[in-house]
Amino acid sequence: MLAGGTDLIVDLKTARLRPSALVNLKRIPGLIGIEQTDKGIRIGALATASTIARSDSVTSAAPALAAAAAHLASPPVRALATIGGNVGRASPASDLGPALIVHDAIASITGIRGARTEPVEHLYRGPGTTTLAVDEIITGFFLPRPPDGFGSAHAKLGKRGSGTDIAIAGVAASVVLGTSGEIADCRIVLASLAPTLLRVGAAETGLRGAMATASALLAAGEAAAEAASPIDDVRATASYRSRLARVLTRRAIAGAIAAAGGEVAP
Ligand SMILES: Cc1cc2nc3c(=O)[nH]c(=O)nc-3n(C[C@H](O)[C@H](O)[C@H](O)COP(=O)(O)OP(=O)(O)OC[C@H]3O[C@@H](n4cnc5c(N)ncnc54)[C@H](O)[C@@H]3O)c2cc1C
Repeated sequence: MLAGGTDLIVDLKTARLRPSALVNLKRIPGLIGIEQTDKGIRIGALATASTIARSDSVTSAAPALAAAAAHLASPPVRALATIGGNVGRASPASDLGPALIVHDAIASITGIRGARTEPVEHLYRGPGTTTLAVDEIITGFFLPRPPDGFGSAHAKLGKRGSGTDIAIAGVAASVVLGTSGEIADCRIVLASLAPTLLRVGAAETGLRGAMATASALLAAGEAAAEAASPIDDVRATASYRSRLARVLTRRAIAGAIAAAGGEVAP
């Protein structure tokens, strides 16, 4: 399946993949566009990172996704890279996957046996592999309208900061603040810190019901670093990634709290 080609063309040129046929998804109608309704936002699989980053609907309802799209690679890559290709590639360093998961996004999938839906969280099977059958494509994503008190954010560090490069580490977080300012619910997903995207249940459990304080965020960062299984590679050492897990988790949660209209108490 060829969408923007920013992963696939590299894989063809390096002979990592040798497909006998390519299907160009860009000629298939119905895979484009971003549509907002009372129930949430539908994003077509061919929506590019630059379209998503610039979308007012995504920026207001799904700030983590708009930020992740703005953090993906550089402007020329963002202009081609699609959201369907980002999830289809299933990279553990994906920027858009963690943001979709903290927004509880559902993928619409079509194959020769018909159509189905699947939470994005369940699509990631391992490094570079999804649970999609060989004949299935993602046609779009639905992000349900978030509850009152919701906020989300994305934090990332690449070799040259964010917005230029693949993640050394990345974190998306969402929170729902209760009426007393407590964290009633939250989701935290790490990228480039495990063989596949990692949702950090222990950090989420520790934060649920807690007030938004610096020490609660510190503990969540510790729990994220504990859950991560980073590796040494050309971009960074495992120990540096582990430190990033702490820092970026705190930053992403603080950003989500700010987006929800709250503040972190010292
Ligand atoms: C220089 C460079 C920098 C990059 N930096 C980043 C970065 O910072 N963050 C990041 O997340 N990624 C980055 N990437 C990776 C890439 O840009 C993204 O993963 C991009 O979103 C892939 O989308 P695409 O449309 O180009 O996919 P393609 O290359 O067309 O396809 C990728 C894979 O997904 C499959 N696929 C495509 N569309 C669908 C669909 N609708 N349903 C099912 N499967 C599908 C394809 O068959 C293929 O296996 C970078 C790539 C390059 C070359």
